[in-house]
Amino acid sequence: MTRILVAGAGLAALRTVEHLRAAGWSRPITVVGAEPHPPYNRPPLTKEALRTGITPDVLLFPQRATTADVEWRLGRRVEAVDLLSRRATLDDGDVLAYDGLVIATGVRSRTLPLNGHRIRTMDDALRLRPELVPGARVTVIGAGFIGCEIAATAAGLGCIVTVVEPLDAPLQVAVGRLVGDELRRRHEEQGVRFRLGHSVVRVDGDVVLDDGSRIGTDVIVEAVGSVPNVEWLEGNGLDLSNGVLCDAELHPVTASGPVNEVVAVGDIVRFPDPRFGTTRIEHWTMCGETARYAAISLIARITGVPSDRAGFAPMPTFWSEQFGTRLQSFGVPGLGCEDVRLLEGELAGDCAVGYYRDGILVGVVLLGLRSRMLEFRQLLTSAVVV
Ligand SMILES: Cc1cc2nc3c(=O)[nH]c(=O)nc-3n(C[C@H](O)[C@H](O)[C@H](O)COP(=O)(O)OP(=O)(O)OC[C@H]3O[C@@H](n4cnc5c(N)ncnc54)[C@H](O)[C@@H]3O)c2cc1C
Repeated sequence: MTRILVAGAGLAALRTVEHLRAAGWSRPITVVGAEPHPPYNRPPLTKEALRTGITPDVLLFPQRATTADVEWRLGRRVEAVDLLSRRATLDDGDVLAYDGLVIATGVRSRTLPLNGHRIRTMDDALRLRPELVPGARVTVIGAGFIGCEIAATAAGLGCIVTVVEPLDAPLQVAVGRLVGDELRRRHEEQGVRFRLGHSVVRVDGDVVLDDGSRIGTDVIVEAVGSVPNVEWLEGNGLDLSNGVLCDAELHPVTASGPVNEVVAVGDIVRFPDPRFGTTRIEHWTMCGETARYAAISLIARITGVPSDRAGFAPMPTFWSEQFGTRLQSFGVPGLGCEDVRLLEGELAGDCAVGYYRDGILVGVVLLGLRSRMLEFRQLLTSAVVV
């Protein structure tokens, strides 16, 4: 019987399964996921769930009736795959033959040799939460979104928080200096301390920085980026240098062309975007968008239906919450950090900031202004037409 195998059981996997069923795929689907949990929502792990306590049941995504007959093999890892013979080997030795394969194994936290906490999974958050008690000295290494959100939540819980970051502003790569400096100001107003322009060289009880200064620390959190979970795909001639390189229809590519019966979705997929260049985007909304597109690509190729669809070209959309500030990002602001313009409002209050590359708007960041989101998204959509 024709079967689709989904490797990974996160949001992108769940949405792909739903879209496969919605697009008429009624044949068997098996999902293999390394974590013991069914798909759950990760964004609250650094925000409200970390603040109020992690309740696994609340984080789980509801499962639709249309996917009730899907086989979930949880707590199991795909160890290897042979794309030629269409067989995947699991960590318990089982070999699963498939007709279609969905790569949805996401990313994991990058680690430092400091034995600190990281937050990628529900279990990570369950381990960290009891340590965030009032007065605990928390050092967060890395001032990206995850680091800044943890810092804000820990400070809100009464911890004494220091953030160490080698760049000159938090979130500098993602949103540039102007907005990064403003977010630093908002964090500092709430008591978070920053050691910008510094790296950690060792931990010997204290956290020791590259200038020899020391930070007394009870809890270390490493928030230094992510690594795509691609190892199980090695040996198949794919470009795995940064996620899985795919074509515009989300099929992985080899030197001899796309692998038609395979698609990649979610955080792991790198694809050629006509406006923003070849890109890999770790945003929640991308899971649904890649899933919807890839499900149709996959069914079309397995069933031999020719496709004349336009290539995948989503509008990247991301949100964050820090100390009550809702940050909303559209497009890829990081591409336009050399030319940043205040579009509306005051930086210290609610505002809209535009990011330009060669004079063309490529990203918008809103601080507040939630009721205006669609308007600014539309402004960007009309600016970056190919
Ligand atoms: C703490 C946190 C906060 C976030 N906050 C925001 C936010 O505010 N806004 C936003 O837009 N985005 C946010 N994100 C990003 C968003 O959650 C991700 O984009 C999304 O979860 C990616 O889903 P995914 O299914 O691609 O990958 P994942 O959710 O990582 O799922 C992949 C799954 O595959 C499993 N796996 C890995 N290797 C194998 C294997 N070999 N075999 C089987 N299974 C395997 C993994 O264990 C994992 O369970 C946040 C992410 C985190 C971690």
